[in-house]
Order: sequence, then C-alpha cells, then structure tokens
Amino acid sequence: MRHKSDEPSHDQRLRLATNRQDTQPAEVEARYVCDSCGEEIVVPIDVTEGRHQDYVEDCPVCCNPMVLHVDIADDGEPLIRSEHE
Ligand SMILES: [Zn+2]
Repeated sequence: MRHKSDEPSHDQRLRLATNRQDTQPAEVEARYVCDSCGEEIVVPIDVTEGRHQDYVEDCPVCCNPMVLHVDIADDGEPLIRSEHE
C-alpha cells in the first residue's frame, strides 16, 4: 500500500509561501456596500499606492459610480468609506 507522501500538503505549501514573504502583501481586499443596490462589493486595494486613497469606481453590480475613500491602518488593514459621486 503506497501513499502519495512525497507530495507536500496544502498546509505545508501555504506555510512555505508565507515564510518567504514576511512583508505586507502589496494588495489587500476591502469591502464596501453600494449605496444604490445594497450589494457588498469586494475591491482589491494596492497598498503601495499610499496610506490614503480616493478614487471613483463603478459598481460592478449596478454600474453606478461610487467615490471610495480608503485608509490603510498601521496593521495593513484597509478601511473603506463609499459615497455617491
Ligand atoms: Zn451597486
């Protein structure tokens, strides 16, 4: 009886990947709720763009433009506020 033990498990692969990169990821995910349709939208935030970012993004659900105000906290956690343009 032979098991496939020479292949690393998912756990090990994840740990290897995290060990190699001890800095913050360049991209994090933030969520906001669209004013128009009430859907929760997940947007990737490029943290290398700065600690505070303002930009306009069209809602992927209802296509209404939303102004997003993003603040990156000290621990890299993004805070996002959305408002109608
Ligand atoms: Zn929407």
